[in-house]
Amino acid sequence: KMPVQQFLTSAYETYPKKTAIHFMGKELSYEELYESSMKFANYLQKLGIQKGDRVSIMLPNCPQAVISFYGVLYAGGIVVMTNPLYTEREVAYQMKDSGAKAIIGLDILFPRISKVIKETQLENVIITGIKDYLSFPKNLVYPFIQKKQYGMTVKVEHRGINHLFTEVMKISQPTVVETPFDFEEDLALLQYTGGTTGSPKGVMLTHKNLISNATMCDSWLYKCKKGEETIMGIIPLFHVYGLTTVLILSVMLGDKMVLLPKFDPETALKTIDKQKPTLFPGAPTLYIGLMNHPDIAKYDLSSIEACLSGSAPLPVEVQEKFEALTGGKLVEGYGLTETGPVTHSNLVWGERTKGSVGMPYPDTNCKIFQTGTTIPIPNGEIGEIAIQGPQVMKGYWNKPEETAATIVDGWLLTGDLGYMDDEGHFFIVDRKKDMIIAGGFNIYPREIEEVLYEHEAIQECVVAGIPDPYRGETVKAYIVLKEGYTVTEEELNAYCREQLASFKVPRVYEFRKELPKTAIGKILRRSLVDEEIAKQK
Ligand code: ATP
Repeated sequence: KMPVQQFLTSAYETYPKKTAIHFMGKELSYEELYESSMKFANYLQKLGIQKGDRVSIMLPNCPQAVISFYGVLYAGGIVVMTNPLYTEREVAYQMKDSGAKAIIGLDILFPRISKVIKETQLENVIITGIKDYLSFPKNLVYPFIQKKQYGMTVKVEHRGINHLFTEVMKISQPTVVETPFDFEEDLALLQYTGGTTGSPKGVMLTHKNLISNATMCDSWLYKCKKGEETIMGIIPLFHVYGLTTVLILSVMLGDKMVLLPKFDPETALKTIDKQKPTLFPGAPTLYIGLMNHPDIAKYDLSSIEACLSGSAPLPVEVQEKFEALTGGKLVEGYGLTETGPVTHSNLVWGERTKGSVGMPYPDTNCKIFQTGTTIPIPNGEIGEIAIQGPQVMKGYWNKPEETAATIVDGWLLTGDLGYMDDEGHFFIVDRKKDMIIAGGFNIYPREIEEVLYEHEAIQECVVAGIPDPYRGETVKAYIVLKEGYTVTEEELNAYCREQLASFKVPRVYEFRKELPKTAIGKILRRSLVDEEIAKQK
């Protein structure tokens, strides 16, 4: 029942000299991570951050993101993870909604942040540069800009005011004023949903939610060797998936995390070759990106023992090919921001069922209900997936009605459609909102995507329902071809007709160089549909 930050204290006490973070050639020990986080916490407290205050972190994966995360928690605050790719409008929304008092942002983001300060409750903006890691950790500087002192006209010449922060860091001690914690009730994180559908909501995740989920991933999924694993951190830490399965899990075990600030297949392959990660959580598009790199054979990927694929369906083809390339296991899991995030997965060292997301984690209950209700339906029938468990969020921030509509009779209604077989394996069919209704037929995009992924020329694809005056909606497939391959619309159509009932066969195909994705690598089906709607107008 230790709060999230207590695990860093423990790792520091047990393994002070062990590497906690590897970042682009630099290493940071647990001692350095702990002391920097404590100093940062002390600094935040001096700025007036108190228990329960929200502090946003708008950084890509880098050591400063980890220090900031633990710093905010040691100071008693609640972390708000903000996607660095957010536009001004999105940042403003998140700052206003969360009421964040301070933000730690990347230097190049400052123009965007500064434009929204006025309309938010932000009092302090703390800026750090991605290149600051080069002098890390000796000269770690968080040049700092205080709203009161500089007003709104401050420029991004943060180098010029570095000394200001250095002053603060000099007087900053690795000690904090400790505040009592309630493991079950206190929030550690306000995590905004990805926004694949609708406007983002702040998901309230407690210390218990996050620690339970990381513990489940350790004991159930991976069976980690404490202190001996190296976790590949390509998926963003500003999403709860990366936060739990890379950062919290790694620190909980006293392991090493290898962070990359963005996904670039070549850098990722080189890093795997050199850093020899054993665990590698990711998303299907990420594994696809690596697998299709022309020089993949040059790199040694044999250190990889276990990968958890979440966020979107994992095509069986991708799973098999990736396993053959690395010799490790790639297992599919399932979850959502509201559940911290993982609720199900197949087992790395045990049973795996193709096409299934596996079974619920320990202490996690899952039922299939008649959509939108809490009425159970028989095995094998498709309904809405509902979850109960220690990882289920406390609710949505400031949105009691949406919370009440989502947590019903103690069950979290996920908005995903699925079924359970007689052995208790779960299968995700699709999102309620993604189901296509064409000419009165229910069509699940995922089934069509699975078929397309089996085609040798297709690298990536997504299927969506686009408006159709005649059938209500019609099926459209967006395709990215593998390099060096050509295929015509007619050929694809003939191929789909062989594999699918005719009402499911895409009526429209569009070839693209790439598909729009969220930061975690999930294909943004909704934005393609919006494009189509705009085109049709
Ligand atoms: P929003 O909830 O705002 O629309 P989002 O989709 O990015 O955005 P997340 O919480 O990041 O929200 O994603 C959770 C969703 O991802 C699940 O509800 C489910 O639809 C999908 N998902 C996760 N794992 C899988 C999987 N293995 N197979 C299919 N879908 C999955």
